[in-house]
Amino acid sequence: MLVTTISATEAPATVISNQAPSATTSSTPSGASATPTATTTTSNGNGTSSQHGFVWPLAGGCLPKGDQLMPGAPRPYRLGIHEGVDFYPSDNCTTIAKGTPVLAAKAGTVVRADLDYTDISPAELTSLLTNPATDQAFDRFRGRQVWVDHGNGIISRYCHLSGVAAGITKGSAVSQGQFIAYVGESGTPESVTAPGTEFHLHFELRLPDGTFMGKGQTPSQVRALYTALFSP
Ligand SMILES: [Zn+2]
Repeated sequence: MLVTTISATEAPATVISNQAPSATTSSTPSGASATPTATTTTSNGNGTSSQHGFVWPLAGGCLPKGDQLMPGAPRPYRLGIHEGVDFYPSDNCTTIAKGTPVLAAKAGTVVRADLDYTDISPAELTSLLTNPATDQAFDRFRGRQVWVDHGNGIISRYCHLSGVAAGITKGSAVSQGQFIAYVGESGTPESVTAPGTEFHLHFELRLPDGTFMGKGQTPSQVRALYTALFSP
């Protein structure tokens, strides 16, 4: 459902640089060198501005170009707000399909790993969509999940998985970049109505107060925040 909103014709100018702000080699001029990378404005509420150093949960990834795939975007079908970043094929700088490895964005401890997940049935989907604004419904719509606690109340959530990597279970210590799960489409309405059409990774960063990184911010603030989070 969401993938249809991605415009394949987005102007490349909107691509966010995911380059490390490498020590300026501005010794010289050759014109174009002084790349005005999108301003990494600092003020992000929630005291999250000091957070950084996460790596992409998919090798070679980058932020999606469309704000509708970023935190804070509306999600009318479940009367809610998108609380994470969606990494879809064609809009995340890398290849993604069912089974693509999902990587821990930072070192931490696994606090949830859905080893015994059950798919949403057609009857359950109907029921969930009837009353979607509940914590239980939100959780089901995230599908099979792995959560990693990074300390200081920061938890990353990896959702819609098709599987959990061997050896990953609640209590596992994981290193940054470690393979922890497989991309899937579990929990999406399409996994019931049009199986095979919605493979993507939904990635969230949760805060100690139970909200998500970027809550209440404008799209440009959210983009600046996540650009900083995924910077060294
Ligand atoms: Zn999502």
